[in-house]
Amino acid sequence: MEKVIVIGAGPTGLFATTLLLERGYAVDLYDQKSKAGRKLLLAGKSGLNITNIKDPEDFDAAYKCRQDKMALSLNSFTPADLRHWLRQLGVETYVGSTGLVFPLSHSTETILSIWMDSLVSSKNFTFFPNHRLVSVGRGSLCFETKNKIINLKAPLVVMGLGGASYPVTGSDGKWRLLLESMELETIPFKPANCGFECTWSPFFKEKINYTAIKNIKLTFQNKSKRGEAVLTSYGIEGGPIYHYSREIRDSIEQYGRTTVFLDLLPDLTSKDIFCKLNRKRGKTSLSNHLRKQLKLSGIKILLLRELTEKIIFNDYSLLAKAIKGIPLILERPRPIEEAISSSGGVAFTELDSFFMLKKYPGWFTAGEMVDWDAPTGGYLLQGCFSTAYTAVEGINKITAIL
Ligand SMILES: Cc1cc2nc3c(=O)[nH]c(=O)nc-3n(C[C@H](O)[C@H](O)[C@H](O)COP(=O)(O)OP(=O)(O)OC[C@H]3O[C@@H](n4cnc5c(N)ncnc54)[C@H](O)[C@@H]3O)c2cc1C
Repeated sequence: MEKVIVIGAGPTGLFATTLLLERGYAVDLYDQKSKAGRKLLLAGKSGLNITNIKDPEDFDAAYKCRQDKMALSLNSFTPADLRHWLRQLGVETYVGSTGLVFPLSHSTETILSIWMDSLVSSKNFTFFPNHRLVSVGRGSLCFETKNKIINLKAPLVVMGLGGASYPVTGSDGKWRLLLESMELETIPFKPANCGFECTWSPFFKEKINYTAIKNIKLTFQNKSKRGEAVLTSYGIEGGPIYHYSREIRDSIEQYGRTTVFLDLLPDLTSKDIFCKLNRKRGKTSLSNHLRKQLKLSGIKILLLRELTEKIIFNDYSLLAKAIKGIPLILERPRPIEEAISSSGGVAFTELDSFFMLKKYPGWFTAGEMVDWDAPTGGYLLQGCFSTAYTAVEGINKITAIL
């Protein structure tokens, strides 16, 4: 029986382990943390969006500049395959109104525990927690535990070491140095799916504390996304911002800062707004008029006052236009430690189509440690599962030849 060493007990490593066991390999799984799936558990705290059943074309497009490199994996192990596999594990999923897929009733803790139980029940599986990969040589791995160093010969390896956000979960990105010592090219990590900082007035800063602004449309570089944003003392977070975070980050890198536009009433045209504003106001204050006629929430009115000139409030036509697109200047992304994911990692030039390191035949990488990137919406986990699937296909191919 062939043994495969899997390093990293996140969704990528766990799924590679599952498939390898199913295909008759013995698997030793190593992780530097005491428990598996720390980042997965964190992801589950805000509702585990496991995949997405958008049109295949839209789906592939989410992987943007790495679309061609990811296509084989995503087509080999699709969102439908992932849902089918979860069902076999005993986890039913449902599709939300926008195509996002979530577990129907299981918590992420329960899913992870069912998943781990299914692995541990195999006599061919051993988990080595608290084992940190500290050095690598050709065909050999070195792990460190609290009190010993372990050197292994490892002809078949799958690495799923994750990215560099939320290092507390074990995804500290320090493995980049190890891979560079193997003369492998890696791309520096950058925050992805992250919040951005901007300068609020002291008055406004005092008024907000992770305050949600519901139903807005954010426009950046002529593309728009609707959703809910969250205003924080340092800037802005939330789905629509995460969606364009790569482009926003790159634009800030290039120009020092960048501007996004917030439509506070995406269901109304500026003409509708203008007409409603022109309804009889009487002695009502402008804020109350905005509230009554437009159903503009208090936080939206505050934001409007924060980001526009006073003079605009004297002219309903200008005010209507401002409501449909207030500019917000973003100055820098939040630190990578707080990002949902990171871009960068193992360069695709180092990998064959099975995610095998060309210079180290038999050694595969998968998941977030590879230099692909995707927005939130289940694309990240799907990318991890699909690339793990491809890596295991690669192992099969190699062992079939041997
Ligand atoms: C707050 C938050 C919410 C999220 N929500 C979602 C969501 O709803 N949907 C979605 O698709 N994605 C979501 N994600 C992203 C998703 O969780 C990650 O993309 C995914 O966990 C990456 O899986 P991975 O297995 O590649 O890496 P990880 O899950 O990061 O696992 C890597 C593992 O490798 C181990 N490791 C690293 N270095 C070493 C070493 N030197 N030696 C030994 N072990 C090592 C780590 O300890 C870790 O266990 C979210 C992330 C965050 C932070």
